[in-house]
Amino acid sequence: MEIEKIKEKTEYCLNCKMKPCSQKGCPLENNIPSFIKAIKENDIKEAYNILTETTVLQPLCGRVCPHKKQCEGSCVRGIKGEAVNIGDLEAFVGDVAINENYKLFDGKIEEKKGKKIAVVGGGPAGLTCSAFLAKYGFDVTIYEKYDYLGGLLVHGIPEFRLSKDLVKNTIQKILDLGVNVKYNQELGKNLKLESLTNEYDVIFLSFGANITSKMGVEGEDLKGVFGGNELLEKKCYPDYKGKNVAIIGGGNVAMDCARTIKRLGAESVKVIYRRAEKQMPAEEKEIEEAKKENIEFLFQNNVVKILGKDKVEKIELIKTELVKKEGETREVPVNIEGSNYIIDMDYVVMALGSHAEDFVKDLGLKLNKYGGIAVDENGRTSNPKIFAGGELAGTKGTVAWAAKSGRDVAMTINKEYN
Ligand SMILES: Cc1cc2nc3c(=O)[nH]c(=O)nc-3n(C[C@H](O)[C@H](O)[C@H](O)COP(=O)(O)OP(=O)(O)OC[C@H]3O[C@@H](n4cnc5c(N)ncnc54)[C@H](O)[C@@H]3O)c2cc1C
Ligand code: SF4
Repeated sequence: MEIEKIKEKTEYCLNCKMKPCSQKGCPLENNIPSFIKAIKENDIKEAYNILTETTVLQPLCGRVCPHKKQCEGSCVRGIKGEAVNIGDLEAFVGDVAINENYKLFDGKIEEKKGKKIAVVGGGPAGLTCSAFLAKYGFDVTIYEKYDYLGGLLVHGIPEFRLSKDLVKNTIQKILDLGVNVKYNQELGKNLKLESLTNEYDVIFLSFGANITSKMGVEGEDLKGVFGGNELLEKKCYPDYKGKNVAIIGGGNVAMDCARTIKRLGAESVKVIYRRAEKQMPAEEKEIEEAKKENIEFLFQNNVVKILGKDKVEKIELIKTELVKKEGETREVPVNIEGSNYIIDMDYVVMALGSHAEDFVKDLGLKLNKYGGIAVDENGRTSNPKIFAGGELAGTKGTVAWAAKSGRDVAMTINKEYN
């Protein structure tokens, strides 16, 4: 973005003393007014250093955070008009830091502590935890299942929303802190928790929860039904050209699957969501983009069953009405009896949420009610030597919340070993 435009955006910030954008809106509590002030004063390096006090994923969070629900949603300017465009400003600072080769934490690393930490999973939670641990002087090794780092920043959010080169360059700054990585190491397969607990002082588990949840409808196991998370992660891309595809769900995963499949040449992509448009968890911006790309939306429609002999052929839907129910914060969709109808379909993508892999049950750790790993307020599991964070430990499903959990665990470990 041109510097004049950036300057215009910074001038619009009121430098509020109470910092609601930081304190109420930003999961990471980035010091938003201060970094904006530093840009105003033409000191981008200082703006970057201010941001690195709380985050290491600036150019990525600047682009993919749901800003309207987070920092910009709490901006004072937003009460009477448009909020300050905080996301663009953070992305700008992150981009300059990459181009100018600024170092994370201004290159200041604390004295080595002689303690070894293993981090399992190199997504936003694991990467952020590793960066802060390295800053505090710990020897950190990331164990990662794939031959690349980034997690859902790479194999979830598609390239058309987030450049993989940008992800790589952002991660390189973390590796430059001296973080070691062992690739192709998969816990539950060729990596055992017990060998890590023997070798390391502390373990941080951050291997995500990217298994699509089942809906429990008839026909869900037919050929041609995919889980949205696996579809993107494993690139389950049959020849979609000329085909009809239904996406079930209304969140980020549903939008990214719909837009990816449309780009792969599908004739029609229908997003089926049982509530109303205003209740969709996906970002407004993503919904607008999807509409522009001719993705159709069937709001207040529910799936009854998926029909077909050997593979998906049709899908049966039913209309819903939204009803106020006692004890519920939002209106609940209720099927309208007799409103069923059937449409032709070639593929169905389930995007109704996700959970952790089954092998977590065998790790000997207490689980939470979602089947992930249970942690206390410091991110510690039922084994005092093991911490967990990110989606695996049930943080809200955004990059910033996952990153916060990793950073906060690093701070706890640092306190305990100081
Ligand atoms: C399609 C999609 C779009 C999204 N869009 C957005 C968005 O726009 N904005 C936003 O803020 N959030 C978005 N999210 C959510 C966000 O990506 C996640 O909340 C965040 O990535 C969670 O971070 P994490 O570190 O907990 O897990 P992950 O990102 O899943 O990282 C886990 C890491 O662990 C590795 N791993 C997995 N299993 C093992 C194992 N057994 N052993 C070793 N390593 C393992 C994985 O390869 C990965 O590197 C999206 C999610 C999806 C699926
Ligand atoms: S609330 Fe808005 S105007 Fe106030 S400091 Fe934060 S970004 Fe600036």
